[in-house]
Amino acid sequence: MQRLPTIFVTHGAPTLILDDCPARDFLGALGRQLPRPKAVVCVSAHWEAARAVASAAPRPQTIHDFYGFPQALFEMRYPAPGAPAVAGRVAGLLHAAGISCVVDPLRGLDHGAWVPLKLMYPEHDVPAFQLSVQTPLGPAHHVAMGKALAPLRDEGVLILGSGSATHNLADFRYVRGLADPARPYVKPFDDWLVKTVEAGDEKGLAGYESAPEGRRNHPTPEHFLPIFVPFGAALAAGEGRGRAIHRSTTYGIIAMTAFAWGMA
Ligand code: ZN
Repeated sequence: MQRLPTIFVTHGAPTLILDDCPARDFLGALGRQLPRPKAVVCVSAHWEAARAVASAAPRPQTIHDFYGFPQALFEMRYPAPGAPAVAGRVAGLLHAAGISCVVDPLRGLDHGAWVPLKLMYPEHDVPAFQLSVQTPLGPAHHVAMGKALAPLRDEGVLILGSGSATHNLADFRYVRGLADPARPYVKPFDDWLVKTVEAGDEKGLAGYESAPEGRRNHPTPEHFLPIFVPFGAALAAGEGRGRAIHRSTTYGIIAMTAFAWGMA
């Protein structure tokens, strides 16, 4: 079986799926550019838990974990099947690496997972499930999780991190529209991020809070941490140098940057 690349995407605002913008077009084409996976494990910023949890619902519910958005968004469903056996495999690989992981038989897919997946696999025919982030444990823990999960790449499982390249939502109050130009503090961090990922610089990436405008773009860490899982899984195979596969900005504050590792 062909080894799958690992991917990090910025999922943007929940309305990404309704917004006519380059990032939506990018995600809409991404699924066809990748070898077809037998399942996707999505590490979403919107599932934080004290320890690792893998979701194992056979028919995951679509979770509408947002408020004040158009009704059309609340009516959307993403009825992809789950992958309970692969979720069990995730828990087993993490345990073997000394990382405690439990399986949740009920949890569905939050918008950090289903919005990009609905764009990538609109036929909802690729089984999908999630793995939580453990925010207080920081980058090293998530790199270790990625390393532990590296064998999945050879088993047809796509490791997908879903977070945000920049994520200062406090500045949403200044937003005028989807096509706002990037605010001045966004580009320095995003440029640093692309350079650091493309260098495969583990120490640099883990120190993102000290990067140019690091804290301003990530006042809280949960939207950045998902990047470390696909990165760790690639590092384990000596493929730590990633590649930016998309760059754009939405609402002037969200750099929609996406990365691939191990992609030809
Ligand atoms: Zn989000």
